[in-house]
Amino acid sequence: MEKHACRACRGSAGHLVLDLGQQPACDYFPRSDDPGPDPVYPLQMWLCSSCGLAQLLADPTMPEEPRGTEPAALVVQAADAVERVAASRFLPDRAVVAEYGSPHGGSWLGLLAARGLTPADPGGQADVILDCFGLMHAADQHQALAERAARVAPGGVLLLQYHALSTIIGSGQWNALRHGHYAYYSTTALTAMLAAVGFSPRTAWRFDLYGGTVLLAATRDGERGDGPDEVVRSLFADDARAGVRDPDAFSGLQRDVLAHAKALHDWLAAERSAGREVVGYGAASRAVALLCHAHVDRALLPVVVDASPAKDGLRMPGTDIPVAGPSVLAERKPSAVLVFVPDLMAEIRDTYPAVAATGGRWVDAAALGSTRLQQDA
Ligand SMILES: [Zn+2]
Repeated sequence: MEKHACRACRGSAGHLVLDLGQQPACDYFPRSDDPGPDPVYPLQMWLCSSCGLAQLLADPTMPEEPRGTEPAALVVQAADAVERVAASRFLPDRAVVAEYGSPHGGSWLGLLAARGLTPADPGGQADVILDCFGLMHAADQHQALAERAARVAPGGVLLLQYHALSTIIGSGQWNALRHGHYAYYSTTALTAMLAAVGFSPRTAWRFDLYGGTVLLAATRDGERGDGPDEVVRSLFADDARAGVRDPDAFSGLQRDVLAHAKALHDWLAAERSAGREVVGYGAASRAVALLCHAHVDRALLPVVVDASPAKDGLRMPGTDIPVAGPSVLAERKPSAVLVFVPDLMAEIRDTYPAVAATGGRWVDAAALGSTRLQQDA
């Protein structure tokens, strides 16, 4: 195998820190009548010893995921973020803005337009370059960041939002690793990447989304000369505590894979033995890796409910479990709904009150398996 070169600094020294083995493409949901087997690809995280960027090792070409409905939690967070950034000096009135969005949706442009910001010409410079979970989708991280940085107008700002690696390590979120997401950022590694394009972090905002999400504001070196503020420094401290540059710090994550998968399988088997039906909720990429590792089939979990019409009639990759629309909840009256996307929990409890009214429980699939979370609680 050709030696891996870091997606950011091109360094070749690094460690395989998380290995999920051969996994189906979590982006590709086959039709439910497609018997499989689905093609599988290695799914591994590599930590660069030079710049510290945690990244996807192999790079199989993936078809695009059918775009899901935007979780309300994301919409609420976007509004909160725009509000908080606007209260700083980094979102000037009437500024020109360009956005690098995520292929999974979640644009902030409408919110920014409502504040008087105007969109940049395609490819043109902007006072505010916003990247909301977009950068992680670029296979060449250096090139993608350089492109964004080059578009920042003199005196402008680069805003980058990412799910923090310290959260992934600290909360045992091993199934954040997925094909198509090439980078898993610590503030430390991102700062090194920014330095390579002549930018430095100035401030940041923290959000609870995904258990810990950061929006970082960076400006060109030599402009607005102040260094990182206390929020950025606290993020560096979080990184140091989590050990984001230490391959050994990821060993807990690797152990969590087995523990989480076993806990899920055992729980589903116990529910079935007791004659209680469980259905899943959220046909997300995180669910794919978890169900595959736990060897869950439709005998244990007959269906995964998803509100996205694009996923209705498909099946979970790597399993025989069909995906169906929310009407299934009323038809089956399950005794428990296993939620694969914890950020959806509050929203779906409100949307489907009939589940609780008919005696159904909402169960967080992430908490179910995380031994570390249970010990911490
Ligand atoms: Zn590197």
